[in-house]
Amino acid sequence: MVNAKGTLRTCEQGHSYSKSSDCPTCPVCEQERKPKEGFLSLLSAPARRALENQGITTLQLLSQYTEKEILKLHGIGPSAMPKLKQALEEEELSFNK
Ligand SMILES: [Zn+2]
Repeated sequence: MVNAKGTLRTCEQGHSYSKSSDCPTCPVCEQERKPKEGFLSLLSAPARRALENQGITTLQLLSQYTEKEILKLHGIGPSAMPKLKQALEEEELSFNK
């Protein structure tokens, strides 16, 4: 069925959406797919710079550091830690012990 808004589709995950193009990408799935660098966007600018200066641009790299090591970086405040922990947990990672 085709109307002015496009065709109604259902993706593999069961999301319904309408698309006028024949691009098969579901917008709901698209939004749920987070970029690996996404955790940096949660942080304040000084905290983000502190991690970038250390070369920590992915959660995989972050997980190689201990919580103490990260806290010692200039620019990382205690308020950044819960955000980092949560971001790690979402990827089933954690700080080094
Ligand atoms: Zn979907």
